Amino acid sequence: MVDIKSLTKAELEDEFVSKGLQKFRAGQVYDWMHVKLARSFDEMTNLSKDLRTRLSNEYEYTSLKIERFQESAIDKTAKFLFELNDGNFVESVFMRYKHGNSVCISSQVGCRMGCRFCASTLDGLVRSLKPSEMLDQIYAISHHMGERVSNIVVMGMGEPLDNFDNLLRFIELITNKDGLNISARNITVSTCGLVEKIKELADRKLAITLALSLHAASDEQRRKLMPVANKYTIEELMQACSYYFETTGRRISFEYSLVSGVNDTIDDAQRLSALARRVSAHINLIPVNPIKERDYRRGSRDDILAFKNKLEKNGINVTIRREMGQDIDGACGQLRRRKLTEE
Ligand code: SAH
Repeated sequence: MVDIKSLTKAELEDEFVSKGLQKFRAGQVYDWMHVKLARSFDEMTNLSKDLRTRLSNEYEYTSLKIERFQESAIDKTAKFLFELNDGNFVESVFMRYKHGNSVCISSQVGCRMGCRFCASTLDGLVRSLKPSEMLDQIYAISHHMGERVSNIVVMGMGEPLDNFDNLLRFIELITNKDGLNISARNITVSTCGLVEKIKELADRKLAITLALSLHAASDEQRRKLMPVANKYTIEELMQACSYYFETTGRRISFEYSLVSGVNDTIDDAQRLSALARRVSAHINLIPVNPIKERDYRRGSRDDILAFKNKLEKNGINVTIRREMGQDIDGACGQLRRRKLTEE
């Protein structure tokens, strides 16, 4: 069955016309799905009962069930564990910032990249999400919270560039003026660094922000944390970053999870500064969120600030990721992991 919510408006019009339905019906259904955020055909009250039944028989309509909802008492961050139509689980996070509400979505069920500190990858990849299932996370959260979402970060479970075509279609749909019309400038996609895909993404010339999960400033160190570093060197990554910046005019940001005694020395800060300067990157420091399956620890507040100061002295634009939802398993994959291990 065709997954109706993953079709563009033009595709939906062609689809309906080819099935002998009137073209304007496609506009109505599109609006129900992407603006009114209907959770089933049954909610589309300006369509006849017959038409709704026909559509439910002929199309797949994805929707998410809220399996768990946890709201932080500290900062009103909310974490959702969703059940997909096939019984798999993904998680998403809702965050309130001064500049608007942000949602962090998953792009895959599980992940095959194997980063040592990450809970999402412990059981490998189950499957990639469809464009509709990425949209659904935002739609369900917007509906549940009763608030508009203005920013999206694709930083939940999964490697978005390992689900490239669906990611691009998702971006096309979410930025579409007939849908939620979210500005591409307000979308950030985070990757562990798939070099060919970074270049391909650059060629699409989208106005999104690309975040690179660097986490180490030497190949040797990076290989210890991220298996993907066995495939691509930092040199290759920097070339891809330069290409991205030159092609799109958009600055890359480096994510750097600070792991005590592993990648947080002043020498590391020095090498990292050189890399950031080379490609005009901004750096986002993430004090590592320890997961119980691994023995990685975060440094003291002073260690973290010393690292940040060193970067700043080198003229690098750096922020420490505001830590939200500490009391609700904020880090990627922790909630799904807990659900799976409980069962
Ligand atoms: N696959 C993508 C996006 C998913 S994770 C990527 O690799 O970028 C989003 C960010 O959180 C990545 O930078 C990831 O390395 C980091 N991350 C994952 N688990 C973490 C943990 N336990 N502590 C700190 N950062 C973590």
